[in-house]
Amino acid sequence: SAQNVPEWLSRLNQPQRAAVMTTEGPVLMLAGAGTGKTSALTHRLAHIVRERLAWPSEILCVTFTNKAAREMRERVGKLTGGALEGMPWLGTFHSIGAKMLRRHAELVGLKSNYTIIDTDDQLRLLKTLIRENDIDEKRWPPRQLAGLIDNWKNRGLNPADLTAVDKESYANGRGQEIYSLYQARLITLNACDFGDLLLHILNIFRKHRDVLEQYQKRFKYVLVDEYQDTNAVQYLWLRLIAQSRKNICVVGDDDQSIYSWRGAEVANILRFEKDFPGASVVKLEQNYRSTPQILAAASGLIAANSQRLGKTLWTDMPAGENLRVIGVWDAPEEARRLGEEIERLEREGASLEQVAILVRAQYQTREFEDRFIQIGLNYRIVGGFRFYERAEIRDALAYLRVIAQPADDLAFERIYNQPKRGLGAKTLEKMHQHARRTGMPLAAASLELADTDELPARASNTIAELMRGFLRWREMSEAVTPSELLRSVLEDAGYDAMLKADRSPESAGRAENLVELARAMEEYETLGDFLEHVALVMDSDASDEEEKVTIMTMHAAKGLEFDHVFLPGWEEGVFPSQRSLDEGGLASLEEERRLAYVAITRARRRCTILHAANRRIFGQWSSSIPSRFIEDLPEDHIESETTMTGGRSLWQANWSETEDPFAHVSQSRPDRSQKRGPGWQRALATGYDTKQVRVKEPGRSSASFAAKPRSDIVMGDRVFHDKFGYGKVIGQEGNKLEIEFEKAGVKRVIDSFVTVAD
Ligand code: ATP
Ligand code: MG
Repeated sequence: SAQNVPEWLSRLNQPQRAAVMTTEGPVLMLAGAGTGKTSALTHRLAHIVRERLAWPSEILCVTFTNKAAREMRERVGKLTGGALEGMPWLGTFHSIGAKMLRRHAELVGLKSNYTIIDTDDQLRLLKTLIRENDIDEKRWPPRQLAGLIDNWKNRGLNPADLTAVDKESYANGRGQEIYSLYQARLITLNACDFGDLLLHILNIFRKHRDVLEQYQKRFKYVLVDEYQDTNAVQYLWLRLIAQSRKNICVVGDDDQSIYSWRGAEVANILRFEKDFPGASVVKLEQNYRSTPQILAAASGLIAANSQRLGKTLWTDMPAGENLRVIGVWDAPEEARRLGEEIERLEREGASLEQVAILVRAQYQTREFEDRFIQIGLNYRIVGGFRFYERAEIRDALAYLRVIAQPADDLAFERIYNQPKRGLGAKTLEKMHQHARRTGMPLAAASLELADTDELPARASNTIAELMRGFLRWREMSEAVTPSELLRSVLEDAGYDAMLKADRSPESAGRAENLVELARAMEEYETLGDFLEHVALVMDSDASDEEEKVTIMTMHAAKGLEFDHVFLPGWEEGVFPSQRSLDEGGLASLEEERRLAYVAITRARRRCTILHAANRRIFGQWSSSIPSRFIEDLPEDHIESETTMTGGRSLWQANWSETEDPFAHVSQSRPDRSQKRGPGWQRALATGYDTKQVRVKEPGRSSASFAAKPRSDIVMGDRVFHDKFGYGKVIGQEGNKLEIEFEKAGVKRVIDSFVTVAD
């Protein structure tokens, strides 16, 4: 009864307390969003420590993110009176795996100081292996192989464990061979990839019973949050550790399983009761987070899924407002509207810290960021970069900056070898040297070098080719819109091709971001105007003390809660995503719907969904259809409004695609042939003019910068050059020398790279 409940547990309800107190034996806590699963797990951890059932170092506790681990550590600290001297085994699967592997590295042939390689390193390594083994890398790209290997590792499969289907899935049956070689190469490098952090441990546990027993003995209690998103290798690993004591408590919600694309298997929930017979199953049905309206809407939505265990949820929270579904005309209006709504909440006294905008894809944030900066609304992007700080956006901007301003060395250095052109650190060093000595911008210096024998012929040709590109783009920048310019640059520079060859889910996101960048540029007349806008946007970063709106993806929002949640972009093709529609399967659609459920259930008080009737892609308008998930919402708990001109939405008006009323918008372009942006004028002012720079072409002698020749060198001098040795000056043209080297023959070099020999 309530009287016997200790004060610190009195806040929990009966089933939650049962989950806390049932410390011995397996416990499965299966419950819907906001029912206090994570709270119960936190209290359970505190209870174990308070009652001294185990030392903190004897408890294994797995969270889904590092942030969740930090929060849990803090809360347990409070609940135990702060007497907690750390929790060494509280963290994500990866962080715990890495820690274990440091201790037993030698058992898999690694040293304890092994490095964890990132995706870039992984791809480079795979590429080498693919080449070494004469596999056609165009047909069987490294990305694809990386994806397969991740998948195998997520399933706990070593090369020898692959199924016949797995073996056939790469290079006509050579997948297993390359996977083995890859694993062996990693060991030689004293390195492992992310997948190895768990796979190696699993292998160690299987082969070295003594090590496994050591951990089985150590971990008196095992706790796992967000259990529905564990994958096979994580599951096998947990099962081995918990097998002897069986004091394992897992917490999850099948309706919130949203990571199957990373190998998560919701079936692990069902398996649990089989592997741990007699497990206590705790069901939590009272939701403490959301208003009845939000809960009803979310429950109604998820009921449309066929693949679920099904559960009841109720709340005795006071009634709130219905969900609002707002239809707007286009993306800019969506951003304006969001800004207005948030400002209104602020006026009503809401803290910005309690406001979140959850998006399906990263590219969606750009429109909001631009708008919020304009109206001075502070925001933070969680789990990602601000739009203009993302790598692919910075790359694209760097190209544009060099076009607008050839003396922009930082920009040039960023992209001279991006995409990879085989220009290495040595080439860059040489370019810097030459630029320093002559006071030329890096781009100009590299071009001049390319006209000599200072660099290997291949590097010279590559640089010349790149500079020809810049000349073309610079001319083009006067004739076409900034956004058209961007498109040409991305294509000509090989950037598009690079993303296309890359088949990872992230690369699709990067491509979407670049489309969004082009969309942003459509609002600007000149490249200079646009770059100035970006510079201002990048500069306006609010201080840490100020309250901010949170912008993040729905995936990243799992487990979190906010008073006010905004969900923009609920249109077919945005959410559900185009990819899930293209795949077409029921499973991928149901996963998108679970994501919608996760998104709505983050809201405590108000939830607002927005959708636009039109989106613009590369200057083309296309009308969009509201997300099917809006139709899944129970009508009595939503309020719809459209704020579009004419009060009628595009889809209601039944316009055909060909009669696009906005067709004229995309056709009317300002005549810019006479225009020169400020960027161009700056470029002229630096003295780096297209007329002065000529690139070496077959059959044409090359003149270039009128850099000052050295006065101490005259024809016939004997000179020394680092690379080519001693030689005699036989020609002089500006700062370039033609030298007959004693060993290397006749070469063209730059005078600052030679010393006069006595
Ligand atoms: P999710 O499925 O989204 O991860 P959850 O089941 O983990 O949700 P919690 O985050 O633990 O739910 O709790 C949701 C909210 O309810 C929190 O604000 C928490 O403080 C509160 N809460 C949890 N249990 C109780 C309770 N017994 N009484 C009052 N409030 C509670
Ligand atoms: Mg939770």
